Amino acid sequence: MSARILDGRVVAAAVREAVAADVGGLDYTPGLATVLVGDDPASHVYVRGKRRDAETVGIRSIHHELPGDVESAELEALVDSLNLDDGVDGILIQLPLPGELDSEAMVERIVPAKDVDGLHPFSLGKLVLGRPGLRPCTPSGVVRLLEHYQVPIAGARVVVVGRSFLVGRPLAMILSEKGVDATVSIAHSRTGELVPLTTTADILVAAAGVPALITAEHVRPGATVIDVGMNRTEAGLVGDVDFESVVEVAGAITPVPGGVGPMTRAMLLANTVRAAQTRRGLPDPIL
Ligand code: NAP
Repeated sequence: MSARILDGRVVAAAVREAVAADVGGLDYTPGLATVLVGDDPASHVYVRGKRRDAETVGIRSIHHELPGDVESAELEALVDSLNLDDGVDGILIQLPLPGELDSEAMVERIVPAKDVDGLHPFSLGKLVLGRPGLRPCTPSGVVRLLEHYQVPIAGARVVVVGRSFLVGRPLAMILSEKGVDATVSIAHSRTGELVPLTTTADILVAAAGVPALITAEHVRPGATVIDVGMNRTEAGLVGDVDFESVVEVAGAITPVPGGVGPMTRAMLLANTVRAAQTRRGLPDPIL
């Protein structure tokens, strides 16, 4: 039996449509600033996509590019000016920053109200406290995808492979929140044998950055498998899941590309509108 494909492109299009409808109802134009440092080709592709998405839904895109050898002080000054710019509702610094630039310090410099990537310690702190706020885009995209396809989350056993602050940990946090109510385990590089743990999962999330880490033997028959991995190999872009074998065992699976990636981009747009409304003391949009 072949698993149902959870198509992130379809769901992302629905999110974009909802965001566009929300933006159309506003009496101002939200602005998203993107900051790109250096000449990493993948980062250029990602930022181009994010800018295009923004414009598609009616969000104004403000873009800044700096050379890879830029002084830290110059980048800091740019972030400071975007913090103060009233036409900017969200600030996205494309990570990782090249060279000696301190990515964490730069993200912390963004005012939390404009932290549309949801990676500022203030945003992550709110997440830990279970308080509303801007959530990291990839984890919230995974949850939106599961909700769209009506994969039961409440009461489900979830195993997240990967504990990064970008994906694994915030995702585990969101899924185990009151009201979402999954029971979550987190695996990492020191977990040892993964199979005994991953085969307990109703929902298995792979976010390790290791091509084909998850094979059919890791998956309980009928489980939902979410592949967050995006690994550039000689064979092209591949996930963390050995799709060919797992698709025969899983009940549902995300492809790479076309699974979680488009969701991450779409949730950035949703966060931008949320940030814009919150900054103006207006109610959250219905997304
Ligand atoms: P990361 O910061 O390198 O974290 C990887 C995590 O996986 C770490 O916690 C690591 O454990 C764990 N890990 C590594 N090898 C493992 C193994 N053999 N067994 C079990 N756990 C292992 O990576 P990340 O930023 O979270 O990204 C993970 C993947 O998702 C990458 O492929 C990235 O490109 C992709 N990604 C995709 C999107 C998207 O939109 N689709 C967004 C963000 C990231 P330790 O903590 O012990 O080192």
